[in-house]
Amino acid sequence: MSSQQSTQTPANPHAQAAALLGIAVPDTAKAVEYTCGDCDATVSLKRGEPIRCRSCGHRVLYKQRTNRMVQFEAR
Ligand SMILES: [Zn+2]
Repeated sequence: MSSQQSTQTPANPHAQAAALLGIAVPDTAKAVEYTCGDCDATVSLKRGEPIRCRSCGHRVLYKQRTNRMVQFEAR
């Protein structure tokens, strides 16, 4: 016999806290790759993350150049 509890758990407390703080956490957070201006390390940052190299702590990052092949969004 399975003694499964049928307790209804409320909404995710973490999500609720985030909602209270007004933090929007998109599921598709795009990570953008940057190159550190000091040690040339590749740093991928998502939106809202502080711009800072994870290897040396340098705060100047250059956005990596994407290929010329740019995909246009289909309408
Ligand atoms: Zn660095």
